[in-house]
Amino acid sequence: MTTHIQRPMTGTTPVNDNDNDNDNDNDTLETPAVELTATLLIGDFESECSNCHMPTLIHGVDRHTDIPGRKPTPGCGARFVNTASNSPRITPHHLRAERPDLPIRGQDNDS
Ligand SMILES: [Zn+2]
Repeated sequence: MTTHIQRPMTGTTPVNDNDNDNDNDNDTLETPAVELTATLLIGDFESECSNCHMPTLIHGVDRHTDIPGRKPTPGCGARFVNTASNSPRITPHHLRAERPDLPIRGQDNDS
């Protein structure tokens, strides 16, 4: 092992450290720090995800993993944290009946 000193630290000449900068570039990844959440919007005939506004299944889904349709399409993956209706005929009672495991969005400040 040969000890090779490139140059003594004289003056203010910046050291060539381009190799070290590569670590910083990896900090901007697509994975968000905060989990993506959405409201399950239940309608008369079909329901949609409030995040991507694409159709979603109502029952048995914790996340928007599938967009029902003619061909299987992956959803945005947002986790459903509450429900809401996009139809005046869907009542809070209906929402609770559909998804008793999820709270109803805006239930506290219903005016
Ligand atoms: Zn979605």
